[in-house]
Amino acid sequence: MSDCIFCKIIRKEIPAQMIYEDEELVAFKDIHPVAPVHVLVIPKKHMVSVNDLTDGDAKTMGSIFIVIKKLASELGIAESGFRVVANSGEDGGQEVGHLHFHLLGGKPLGKKIG
Ligand code: AMP
Ligand code: ZN
Repeated sequence: MSDCIFCKIIRKEIPAQMIYEDEELVAFKDIHPVAPVHVLVIPKKHMVSVNDLTDGDAKTMGSIFIVIKKLASELGIAESGFRVVANSGEDGGQEVGHLHFHLLGGKPLGKKIG
């Protein structure tokens, strides 16, 4: 989508600290990190949220979690632990309307999830 900030990052129209890219996905550092490790993993296909997923996206979603697993290891948080978050819609606190998964770690994140 032309005016989507994450689509612009995918198209390299605006800069980001990219840490992974393949045919279907990119991962980059969150611009306002809330933990020592805070990475966003996103599909290249523009989808607003989990609500937009179809059966045809199953492979991409599987790939996202495999990449998250690999990045957690590479970024040194696989053993200490981490959190994966996908905010969806207004009550979910979603600010950017392009499906994304936060990978958070590098400090105790506590038990609060809502
Ligand atoms: P959410 O509230 O789940 O929609 O989170 C959106 C996230 O995107 C926030 O953590 C922002 O800090 C992050 N973000 C927004 N713009 C950028 C950008 N240009 N580069 C990297 N991260 C961004
Ligand atoms: Zn987009």
